[in-house]
Amino acid sequence: LARNPGEVEYHQAVREVLESLGPVLSKYPEFREYKIIERICEPERQIIFRVPWQDDQGRVHINRGFRVEFNSALGPYKGGLRFHPSVYLGIIKFLGFEQIFKNSLTGMPIGGGKGGSDFDPKGKSDSEIMRFCQSFMIELYRHIGENTDVPAGDIGVGGREIGYMFGQYKRITNKYEAGVLTGKGLTWGGSLVRTEATGYGTVYFVEEMLKARGDSLEGKVCTVSGSGNVAIYAIEKLFHLGAKVVACSDSNGVLFHEKGIDLDLLKQLKEVERRRVRDYASYHSDAVYTENGNIWDIPCQVALPCATQNELTGKDAEALVKNGCIAVGEGANMPTTPEGVSVFLDAKIAYGPAKAANAGGVATSALEMQQNASRDSWSFEHTEKRLHEIMINIHKNVAETAMEFGTPGNLVNGANIAGFIKVAKAMLAMGLV
Ligand code: NDP
Repeated sequence: LARNPGEVEYHQAVREVLESLGPVLSKYPEFREYKIIERICEPERQIIFRVPWQDDQGRVHINRGFRVEFNSALGPYKGGLRFHPSVYLGIIKFLGFEQIFKNSLTGMPIGGGKGGSDFDPKGKSDSEIMRFCQSFMIELYRHIGENTDVPAGDIGVGGREIGYMFGQYKRITNKYEAGVLTGKGLTWGGSLVRTEATGYGTVYFVEEMLKARGDSLEGKVCTVSGSGNVAIYAIEKLFHLGAKVVACSDSNGVLFHEKGIDLDLLKQLKEVERRRVRDYASYHSDAVYTENGNIWDIPCQVALPCATQNELTGKDAEALVKNGCIAVGEGANMPTTPEGVSVFLDAKIAYGPAKAANAGGVATSALEMQQNASRDSWSFEHTEKRLHEIMINIHKNVAETAMEFGTPGNLVNGANIAGFIKVAKAMLAMGLV
């Protein structure tokens, strides 16, 4: 704590992992002897840089850019870039730390990293976004590479931003290095299913949790927070599997549509027109939009937090459980506060923590890297089948690990322990580096 003052989200993420690891250190005393915990908590490299850019009126702005290259024991650093005004080192470090274990759980050869900027893309023109992305890449390019560090999208960074950054990287380096970024467009090295992967994967994970309890998603009433990339495709897969999604949200308010969200309209508003959730209600008179509402007050059987960290508190978790919620799958990273997590674990509902539940996004990024490396592109069906298998395997691995370490059903422990052991063994094998 003293080494990383003020980084509250990072402290929260580390504490949650360490709380699971007691039995692991008893079983593997060598991890203690070679200070694996101390080493894993210290990023291999942290880069902070200035990003100057000009808006459409010619005014100069200075933002701060970050890339934290956390751990490369299993492969090149891999993790998204987040553009949001709340970004500071503590956010990027919590995300990078979580990414180490998530990437380990995917079974793919990828290390953990994360980056971003406190730049706010909201309300910016296309040209402003492009100039910002180009300026960001003029510094970032020297730190990344298909065998070194492979960034992707996250909050505020989607296909458009990845395109501008890839174009600038290609121009600076004079190399068509497709594997340097993932989340690319489909005609220039992107992978089918990457856009859908995090949302779909989260729902597949929930399906596995319910299956393990002899239940299914069929007919379940669901709420999904957020209305960005993860939320939209979680909603889509829930509909595919026979569930009914009645609510979603953004940082301004909550949309409730009892007969089920009109997904085509939501996609048009959010993905094409880049508008707000409140605009949905002007197309459907029976939909209710509540400014500053709380989505977790809406009764549901399945809840998927897919917006941002610490969006679901202890009080929210109590309300969900009281209203009959039987499953929670985290599409967002660390969306539930520690108090909320305790409520879910005590109530013994099916609770899928982010590291495991939302790992489908980065797993499909690794599939994109595989396609780039072999100069191939796979069909939607093949890629989705791979994603589905990966999610089934992650669930099996974390459920079995939870059982093996004496806490059956506690997938928080299962994910932390299974993710950690693989990285720790690789670090041990590579000596004191
Ligand atoms: P997007 O930018 O596409 O969407 C984010 C959504 O969350 C928007 O609806 C946004 O609302 C809302 N949101 C963001 N910040 C806040 C906030 N402070 N308070 C309330 N609502 C907020 O991002 P993604 O969908 O890609 O990411 C969502 C979450 O999923 C993040 O936690 C991310 O780390 C995680 N994730 C994403 C992956 C991916 O592949 N994209 C992979 C794994 C995890 P508004 O428009 O009002 O800001």
